[in-house]
Amino acid sequence: MNERQNLRIGRTLMEMTIANHIVRIDRDQCIGSGNCVKVAPQIFEIDEDNLVRFREEIGSITAEQLIEACDVCPVDALSVIDATGQQIVPRS
Ligand code: SF4
Repeated sequence: MNERQNLRIGRTLMEMTIANHIVRIDRDQCIGSGNCVKVAPQIFEIDEDNLVRFREEIGSITAEQLIEACDVCPVDALSVIDATGQQIVPRS
């Protein structure tokens, strides 16, 4: 079950809890490549400024798909943190 907890911190940082993971978008880093949208179109979309954002209505996704979608970002604009507080993406 996804939690619709979408926290917007300023204009550039967005955070949402999805599939028991915290997902953060740093829109300052995003270059609009669309890689994440191709893997998880039920979660991400490209806005009118050609930057990624969370969809208004997010669809269901597994943790594995979520991690893959964030891992394909070429500029590390997406972060994933698990329930224990460990950062999974970007990989260190
Ligand atoms: S993969 Fe990264 S750079 Fe490309 S749209 Fe997603 S967040 Fe932006």
